[in-house]
Amino acid sequence: MEKQEIFAKGQALPKDWFSGEAFLNLLIARDENNDFTIGSVSFEAKARTNWHTHPKGQILLVIEGNGYYQEKGKAAQPIKKGDVITIPENIKHWHGASAKNKMVHLAVTNYKDEIQVTWLEPVTDEDYQVVTQNEL
Ligand code: MN
Repeated sequence: MEKQEIFAKGQALPKDWFSGEAFLNLLIARDENNDFTIGSVSFEAKARTNWHTHPKGQILLVIEGNGYYQEKGKAAQPIKKGDVITIPENIKHWHGASAKNKMVHLAVTNYKDEIQVTWLEPVTDEDYQVVTQNEL
């Protein structure tokens, strides 16, 4: 049996795909039985993913703090500890922390062939500020 530490912060995520300080702790790797990964992703305040899509969707389980989930063309949704977000396949979206607090989610991400995610452009500071401007 392989043991992983669910609350470890993990490794810094690349600036090519994330804005700000974000970290990944890969908990469950893909194997012959599980055609997905489970990773704990920690976003410091203001950190977020680039826009991206998943060919077979994704599930987010928020375990700490609060942040946002936004699908292209829709209003951003506030998300918080305890929330479960089901993301359909091929929907352009981003997720990340609030401007003032960190956010940690587990991400369950399926594979289609060898692809889990297609990375797109960053969420600009201007667009992020529009989302977070009414934060208390
Ligand atoms: Mn995603």
